[in-house]
Amino acid sequence: NSTQASVENDISGTDNKGFKGHDMLAPFTAGWQSTDVDPLIIEKSEGSYVYDNKGRKYLDTLAGLWCTALGGNEPRLVEAATKQLNTLPFYHSFWNRTTKPSLDLAKELLDMFTAKKMAKAFFTNSGSEANDTQVKLVWYYNNALGRPNKKKFIARAKAYHGSTLISASETEEEFSTRLAKNLEDLILKEGPDTIAAFIAEPVMGAGGVIPPPATYFDKIQAVVKKYDILFIADEVICAFGRLGTMFGCDKYNIKPDLVSLAKVVYDIGLDNQENKREARERNMVERVNSISPKFQEGLKAFSDSPIVGEIRGTGLILATEFADNKSPNDPFPPEWGIGAYFGAQCEKNGMLVRVAGDTIMMSPPFIATPEELDELISIYGKALRETEKRVAELKSQ
Ligand code: PMP
Repeated sequence: NSTQASVENDISGTDNKGFKGHDMLAPFTAGWQSTDVDPLIIEKSEGSYVYDNKGRKYLDTLAGLWCTALGGNEPRLVEAATKQLNTLPFYHSFWNRTTKPSLDLAKELLDMFTAKKMAKAFFTNSGSEANDTQVKLVWYYNNALGRPNKKKFIARAKAYHGSTLISASETEEEFSTRLAKNLEDLILKEGPDTIAAFIAEPVMGAGGVIPPPATYFDKIQAVVKKYDILFIADEVICAFGRLGTMFGCDKYNIKPDLVSLAKVVYDIGLDNQENKREARERNMVERVNSISPKFQEGLKAFSDSPIVGEIRGTGLILATEFADNKSPNDPFPPEWGIGAYFGAQCEKNGMLVRVAGDTIMMSPPFIATPEELDELISIYGKALRETEKRVAELKSQ
């Protein structure tokens, strides 16, 4: 609406300095980035690669946003989506009206999830909405059970199991015992009758790819069970093979009461699980297990770099945390922007990674070939050497 736009421009017109660049307010993008730096405009995808609007090719090591497990332009997915768009582009599931693909997908998902028998599938448009819905379901559940005060959720702060994992001089089992005790202390402090649910990713993804220490989920599950607290597994990143098991819950023997799925699920949902049939045919889990050793070992071989605090991951998910003195407890000054510098070197060399502070993350598509992984490792190595030089320069200043 042009009138509205011009009114808004007038309001911002008191200081127009920050309003050049493009017209979009982009998520996870600092204000200065969207005004002072041209965005990278991705125009096309082909297998494990994406292309920008200038025709430059990049290895897409985050699989979009942890989601394009079968790559960018799987022909059968395109065909399935096209067919569905031509048949029924939209219908809803309100008032007991629904569609065959929805019913089929619900059944497939319940059959697939063997960690614990799930009763029903509820569909949303994204992982965020899935988790939002979990809150509503859990509140409803406790209202229905006549305990309206049992409404609080416990989620894990990033710092809660971040650097302590590495810094502590205890074993992983001892560390897990301490974390379970922390959880129990928190529950007792808040009042067990007020805590409804505990939510956790099997491997924490966006928080920096943090796999759980040994026995962690056994101990945590015992605590939540003791206080009649529901366990919600956020499988948004881990599900459908990324960790080398169909679900993250399988890998860590988690028996959740509710599960959030998204991303790869979205693809699977197209036209009667075309993607799932595809997945079966290609056997995604086996595929991940066959290529992940190269990915993990190839990158972990760089652990001896003086600027690497830790390289951690499992299956097709991995993070590198840059730090001084090879210790995650010795971060570089944030203003040095070491993670961002590394990310820029990757981009220059034709590879996209996810940068979060001085941690960089990768979760390549399952279709990545050994040759593509060689390329990934080679560009990573180049970017790392450039970043080492940069750190040496900054230190000498
Ligand atoms: N849960 C987890 C573990 C995630 O990593 C994400 C997004 N990366 C979400 C939920 C939100 O999913 P979406 O982007 O589909 O809203």
